[in-house]
Amino acid sequence: MQQHKAIKARYPDAVLLFRVGDFYETFGQDAIIASQVLGITLTKRNNGGASDSELAGFPHHALDTYLHKLVKAGYRVAICDQLEDPKTVKGIVKRGVTEMVTPGTATNDKLLDFNSNNFLAAVHIANNAYGLAFLDISTGEFFIAEGDREYADKLLMGFKPAEVIFQRQNQRRFKEEFGTRFYTYTLDEWIFSFPYAEEGLLKHFDTHSLKGFGIEGADAGIVAAGAVLHYLRETEHPNLQHITSIHRLAQADYLWMDRFTIRNLELIHKSGEGSQTLLDVLDATVTPMGARMLRRWIVFPLKDMQKINERLQTVEYFILQTELRNQQLHALKQCGDLERLVSKIPLKKINPRELLQLARSLTQIDTIKQLCMASENSYLQRLGDTLNPCHYITEKILAFITENPPALAIKGGFLNGGVNEELDGLRNIAQHGKEYLLQLQQKESESTGISSLKIGYNNVFGYYLEVTNSHKAKVPAAWMRKQTLANAERYITPELKEYEEKITGAEEKMLAIELNLYDALLNELHDFIAPIQANAQIAATLDCLCCFANNALQFNYKKPVLHEGDELVIKEGRHPVIERSLPPAEPFISNDLTLDKEDRQIIILTGPNMSGKSALLRQTALITLLAHIGSFVPATEAKVPLTDKIFTRVGASDNLSAGESTFMVEMNETASIINNVSPRCLILLDEIGRGTSTYDGISIAWSIVEHLHHATEQPKTFFATHYHELNELENKLPRVKNFHVTNKEVGNKIIFLRKLAPGGSTHSFGIHVAKMAGMPSSLVNRANEVLKQLEEKHVDSALAQNVKGLTAPKLQLSIFDAHSQTFDDIRKMLEGIDINRLTPVEALLKLNEIKNLLK
Ligand code: ADP
Ligand code: MG
Repeated sequence: MQQHKAIKARYPDAVLLFRVGDFYETFGQDAIIASQVLGITLTKRNNGGASDSELAGFPHHALDTYLHKLVKAGYRVAICDQLEDPKTVKGIVKRGVTEMVTPGTATNDKLLDFNSNNFLAAVHIANNAYGLAFLDISTGEFFIAEGDREYADKLLMGFKPAEVIFQRQNQRRFKEEFGTRFYTYTLDEWIFSFPYAEEGLLKHFDTHSLKGFGIEGADAGIVAAGAVLHYLRETEHPNLQHITSIHRLAQADYLWMDRFTIRNLELIHKSGEGSQTLLDVLDATVTPMGARMLRRWIVFPLKDMQKINERLQTVEYFILQTELRNQQLHALKQCGDLERLVSKIPLKKINPRELLQLARSLTQIDTIKQLCMASENSYLQRLGDTLNPCHYITEKILAFITENPPALAIKGGFLNGGVNEELDGLRNIAQHGKEYLLQLQQKESESTGISSLKIGYNNVFGYYLEVTNSHKAKVPAAWMRKQTLANAERYITPELKEYEEKITGAEEKMLAIELNLYDALLNELHDFIAPIQANAQIAATLDCLCCFANNALQFNYKKPVLHEGDELVIKEGRHPVIERSLPPAEPFISNDLTLDKEDRQIIILTGPNMSGKSALLRQTALITLLAHIGSFVPATEAKVPLTDKIFTRVGASDNLSAGESTFMVEMNETASIINNVSPRCLILLDEIGRGTSTYDGISIAWSIVEHLHHATEQPKTFFATHYHELNELENKLPRVKNFHVTNKEVGNKIIFLRKLAPGGSTHSFGIHVAKMAGMPSSLVNRANEVLKQLEEKHVDSALAQNVKGLTAPKLQLSIFDAHSQTFDDIRKMLEGIDINRLTPVEALLKLNEIKNLLK
């Protein structure tokens, strides 16, 4: 218990699994947690007179079953093992923590989702600069980045790290800036220092400079990467040889989408139960590596025309070459998760079965290489040329490991015959041992005439011949008596002893030889980690490209034309996710769309609720995005301008469920667009301005459109709104065009035709919706009347003719009035009231007074 206490003190915030004999035990608070999470029995035991301590444990071989449950439940788990063989020590064996498992450092297959990365992230906050590092210890991928808060936010959204570490004193700030959705852990301040981080990285990569990785100068990012390495050391992960490189995610290399856009477009995050993401509908990859890469492609679309075209052309090539594509897919399918297999080598967690799989995967890599080299596509040839099937080690593994090896090396019996002479000899003895003893017994029994002669074995003097008392007289003089029993005697002979020496420990020796050779093989494999990882990346790339080709064929996607101009022209575009989730009877209605800088810089899109405005906006963004990741697109034709940023904003009430304060958030988000527009960006605004009162909303929306129209960057903008008042802008601004989504009224019903058509809509549709919902017709008629009056009074006269002089009616307090005279007066009055003394009548009078102030 003292030893436990001492170790526990070093890992105070982890559940400590304390190895005792064949069990992992937990004590005290840990035991309470373990029993609850794992459903194992909680017992109490008396601590030598001291207070009772809770206790819960499970057999050591069940670690695999239980460990991941604790980690998934959000606990950090320290595994404390016996560091000495209890057989060889007197007293208490030495124990120590051999591994600490946290959500971000998991390597166990049960903790990992094969289709997604498991990133540990570090965030270094230095004033207003953010350094970030992302490491997936299960694949060895290591990235750093630095930038402003928005970039940090986007990366955290895109990488979805399983755990985020940062400086302790930033706890509050991190929560405020990035929310509470991450599993976090904080570290001491000193760990986040540049010299310490640089030293750690140089030591890890065993280099003199970080130049080779192209990360020099990215100081904040390097600090974060240093913190990651520190954290791995602290959590007892010393074997990191599979982290062979570190890459910088330069903001400028990728099409920018901030985190709102990543979320709004539902790229990788579901909006609700049962909904699908873009990733879901695109992902037809056949390897886990491919699935993981596709996710990254979606969040980091390319901006380099040549690279994009390389992908597009290869997809096209795969579409034409059915045979080649099928052969590639067939080989890829058998590749398994090369990347994660490799990561198990330095950790020594790869088992014989997996090692054999690794070799078989490499054989497939050879096939893939040949297929690529034989193709007539230069990108494929280049990829193929880089593939390294690692013949030497593949052949060695295949020669070493048996056809159906056990899952655990410790079971032995996984090495082929012919690998090691001593092993073969021992196996021979072990196999033929029983036969030999039987023969010996028979021989001796015949020569002595002792019919009941038996060979036995015990721990004290090994093999013996047992003679019952009735045959005692026949025992030859050369036999040595070792033991006398009640009715028998036991003897040993030189021949027996000689044999015994050979056989005892044969099993142990065989296992030792096998394990030694296995270890040596793993050590040899170290040299192949980097090339195998490179193979995995290329296999993943091919997987994604084949997947794009299959999608194009299956869902009728077409090759987009990327160009350096400004025009976005989409013919018969569809929404890739919605078109797949509609019931069979309901066809998706496709639409044409053009945005450019000449006369369609801004499209104002009006239409009733549910008519398909949001869908149209999103599909425009998604088609642009798909083109930039090198995928074909759901349209018959698409001319896509090279785009450097996609912004989308959805009016507050559309994502109320996200639980964020509404209007302020909406304005914040919109402000960040306004401040970041570029000549090559695409802006999608969905019902912006809806989070406040009507006239506030219209005014804001109005001025946003004006601002974007006048901006020198002339950003292409698609603005969906139910404020048909905004249609007026078309008359005032040359590059604004009105469109609406068509619908047809049949009796009391609106039928959505969902076709985009020029011109605005003139109607407010809210009243129609009220009618459809079954409101009494007298009410509906009255609503129409009121609307008409309001429109005549305020909108047509003021908005349409003279925006500058617009005076909105005071239907409600507007946020822009927050510091008006009236507000100050009301505040003064309220402050002067002593509620404890106020009678109800006085209260009513005050209320009246306040109301009068508003008139
Ligand atoms: P709005 O934004 O105008 O309120 P949405 O874009 O949210 O409308 O569309 C409402 C629903 O209509 C979508 O969930 C989808 O099921 C369906 N829908 C939208 N566009 C189309 C289309 N082009 N073809 C078929 N169904 C569509
Ligand atoms: Mg909408």
